[in-house]
Amino acid sequence: MLEITLKFSTAQTQKMNQVMKKLLGLVAAQLVCCYVSGQKIHYDVSFPNIVHHEARIAVSVFDAPQKELFFRMSRSSPGRYATHEYGKNIYDVVAFDKSGKSMAVQRVDGDVYKIAGINGFVKVEYTLYANHADGTYAGIDASSVHLNMPAAFMWVKELEKAPITVAFKLPKPNSWTTATQLKTTGEANVFTAPDLQYFMDSPTKIGKLTVKEWSVPNADNKPSQFSLALEANGSDSLATAFAGKIKRITEEARMVFGEFPVFDNGSYTFLASINPYVKGDGMEHRNSTMIALPVAFDGSDNLLGVFSHEFFHTWNVERIRPKTLEPFNFEKSNMSFELWFAEGFTQYYGELLLERAGFHSLEEYCQTLTFLVNTKENTAGAKRISPVQASCQAVFVDAGVAVDKTNYPNTYTSYYPYGASVALALDLDLRAKGLNLDDFMKAVWQKHGKPEVPYQVADLQNVLADYSKDKSFAKLYFDKYIHGHESFNYTPLFAKAGLVLKKQSEGQAWIGDVRYNEGTGLTISSNTIIGSPLYGAGLDIDDEIIKIDGQAVGNTGGLNTILKAHKPGDHITVDYKHRGEVKSGMLELKENPRMVVVTYENDGRSVTPEMQTFRKAWLSSKVK
Ligand SMILES: [Zn+2]
Repeated sequence: MLEITLKFSTAQTQKMNQVMKKLLGLVAAQLVCCYVSGQKIHYDVSFPNIVHHEARIAVSVFDAPQKELFFRMSRSSPGRYATHEYGKNIYDVVAFDKSGKSMAVQRVDGDVYKIAGINGFVKVEYTLYANHADGTYAGIDASSVHLNMPAAFMWVKELEKAPITVAFKLPKPNSWTTATQLKTTGEANVFTAPDLQYFMDSPTKIGKLTVKEWSVPNADNKPSQFSLALEANGSDSLATAFAGKIKRITEEARMVFGEFPVFDNGSYTFLASINPYVKGDGMEHRNSTMIALPVAFDGSDNLLGVFSHEFFHTWNVERIRPKTLEPFNFEKSNMSFELWFAEGFTQYYGELLLERAGFHSLEEYCQTLTFLVNTKENTAGAKRISPVQASCQAVFVDAGVAVDKTNYPNTYTSYYPYGASVALALDLDLRAKGLNLDDFMKAVWQKHGKPEVPYQVADLQNVLADYSKDKSFAKLYFDKYIHGHESFNYTPLFAKAGLVLKKQSEGQAWIGDVRYNEGTGLTISSNTIIGSPLYGAGLDIDDEIIKIDGQAVGNTGGLNTILKAHKPGDHITVDYKHRGEVKSGMLELKENPRMVVVTYENDGRSVTPEMQTFRKAWLSSKVK
């Protein structure tokens, strides 16, 4: 009953090869301009210096009609929208013709190498250094090979539609397992992809993996296959129990959309490295996810959030696909107007599914709601830019690295929680009308996901208008909260669920939320925020507060003691150092605007049967 991509029988492999050939024939027929049938790309990956994090990779091009080709490393990766210069980690680039004779390699850009004088065949070889195992980069060492393809593989733009094979020659002896969404050829550690887009979307993990497999009947009664390929220290029974929890989440996610997608190779793989030797990250792909959690594996519910989020992406972003990301451009950052939906709505559901599946208590879910409401109502970014505008910033902030300071704390709010906060608002609003966000997501799936018709922001508004049968409601919601950044009144809607939204620190004096380095004084180590007393008094990042209200302060405890003696509206002096010069200013104290969501029960109020019904419809399991 159980089968996964890694272990097909010979008969199945032959059948797949036939299907593959048919598909490739179709692709070839459509692409006469840039891909000639018979052309193919083959990668050989070996590990002659694995203890020093190196792989030697050879890329061979067969039947190339071109006399010159450009081999390049990517500058972005599926699911990552900022630029990442993968070209920095390759060296010793050489090229050969069919007879093994050296060919000249001309570096024409940091990450682009030109080979001229090609006569049908060329092989380019290079060394890859990889020591950052996460969802974006690559990590190679004597215990594990962890490859995100754009971080590892050179490619040829002129041949991006050509089919690809990749062969991993592993150090011997080993007892390693290979896990990937690539198709196996039947030969050990040799895989295929129909084209560059699929290949680049197919991370590969090789190491001591514990593989757990299961199958669930889909809506059409055909089984959907799943596997968990886990790199972790832990007993087999702990891994089995953990796989059971993931299964629970996948079933809860399916109920939102009504069905699992049809996975391209028949199965979906969770590539999960849960050990202290990886960097924290999770990355979605069409038929797999690369999850890296740098903690000891204990099988606990605390590890599940990233699984829930990434699996929701198999619908939302992988198949319900923004037009701006299709096809993905590996040469530059990929700007999208839709990440508030693709990532933000996924964040909302990632948390909601844990609540529905019983992994979070209602009190824990209230902490999530508190975070979302404060994101929407109390961040400077959400007060000045829309979710669409926040999405456009991904080209800079999505794990992008900069050495100079930015003013993001005053100009930007992450499209993850910002998008989740508008998803929450929409869900509550729809539920108050007798509708719900699950059915809206189903409608988006039917219109854009299942048929794989990429969408734009206006398409989502149209689906909302159709689903709610209320064009003006959809227009108003998008105008105010998606293209605009209006405040949302959560209070009456939370009340329907027996939840109360209130000030967390009512009546308490506040000077603004910043980070401090403690010492003789308090040095401000993050941007002061527009609208806060600190900002209004002229204090900024790197300024050192010496005295407040005439009293010396060197730590936040001392600061809080001084503030407790005052009320919002009071004016108190602040003495501070700016570039070594002592200055003074006036702080006009405000009330801390932070809000908190609590249950009626915890607020001493009684919950009505109507509230219980609302809660159940929203937060309880949908799995029958
Ligand atoms: Zn995501």
